[in-house]
Amino acid sequence: MSPIEVPADSPFGLDNLPYGVFSTPGAPARVGVRLADTVVDLTALPLGDDAAEAFGQPTLNAFLARGPRRWADIRARLRDLLAAGDIPPGATHPVADVTMHLPVQVGDFADFYASEHHAANVGRIFRPDSPPLPPNWKHLPVAYHGRAGTVVVSGTDIVRPRGQRRPRGERAPGHGPTLRLDFEAELAFVVGAGSPLGEPVGVDEFDARVFGAVLLNDWSARDLQDWESRPLGPFQGKSFATSVSAWVVPMAALRAARVPLPPQDPPPLPYLRGRAPDWRPWGLDVDLAVTWNGEVVARPNARDLYWSPDQLLAQLTANGAATRPGDLFASGTLSGPDRHQRACLLELTWNGTEPVTVNGERRLFLEDGDELAISATAVGEAGGRVGFGTVAGRVRPARP
Ligand code: CA
Repeated sequence: MSPIEVPADSPFGLDNLPYGVFSTPGAPARVGVRLADTVVDLTALPLGDDAAEAFGQPTLNAFLARGPRRWADIRARLRDLLAAGDIPPGATHPVADVTMHLPVQVGDFADFYASEHHAANVGRIFRPDSPPLPPNWKHLPVAYHGRAGTVVVSGTDIVRPRGQRRPRGERAPGHGPTLRLDFEAELAFVVGAGSPLGEPVGVDEFDARVFGAVLLNDWSARDLQDWESRPLGPFQGKSFATSVSAWVVPMAALRAARVPLPPQDPPPLPYLRGRAPDWRPWGLDVDLAVTWNGEVVARPNARDLYWSPDQLLAQLTANGAATRPGDLFASGTLSGPDRHQRACLLELTWNGTEPVTVNGERRLFLEDGDELAISATAVGEAGGRVGFGTVAGRVRPARP
């Protein structure tokens, strides 16, 4: 048994150890962790009596349900085993040789709107004669409920959706393939131990409830969304597909990435604040790169959010809504203050009026055959980087 070789600059070192679901030819999907470019099969490691059951499954949900004490035990044990190189033969597979699957069975999916830069840009684009932010925006984290059943793992092709839309300058709507297909670069949080119906989860309970984070692309058909969202929120403009990265980075690996957010003004209501006097809203120093057909077109960072992830969970459950292991809640488009930090094409092209140059071509929205990939790293405990990997998808033509 020899240790897995981990280059010093690997974003998948011992301070990361993200979880995913993988399969190899002829064997069922099961849970693994990634160390450097190796997937370690957790069903083959001595991790306790309940491990074979929890990890011999095609989703992380059973492990998530075990709760924070068990997550911490397993993480500590894994670090010891992997550091010692104490891994049975046959328990490791090169990342390039495995197929990755959707890591969790998603129960519910809610998508917030937590970047002030994004919300204000959208306001300026669609309501140029009004204040950029709606009056509720600084009082509560605004969200919509997405479609859990169409959350797909990175690498899944995205078929251009058809829907009803009214092209500019026309009086009557038509039905057909979207003409304005967009992406939204986001971070999403994976609920671990759920919470019962009727019991709000306070801001202080985030660490006990949330297991980890993934990258998320909230694919958006802007013309469908624009026509249908009056007066209710997004529906078919977004429910055709939402992509997530295959590796769930544990929140325990993101402790060094936590950064304080600027004070919120006006101060949020008490249910959106921690109980400790020194509680402050926090963000995550997660540096994202959005790549369109191989060219980087945006560099947002999750530290530019207005609302803190613990406030998002508090808002999600403030009315007593239950949560379950595997539920996802996302940040919303992670746009920052600068032009190159705009995290969707709606903003990057200012609603299709300012083309973006991609490989020498002037482009407005996504075309068939395009590949959109979002990758990210965060600050790690040991001073290195913690990788999220990539969430990627290629656009396929609409079905006839
Ligand atoms: Ca979104």
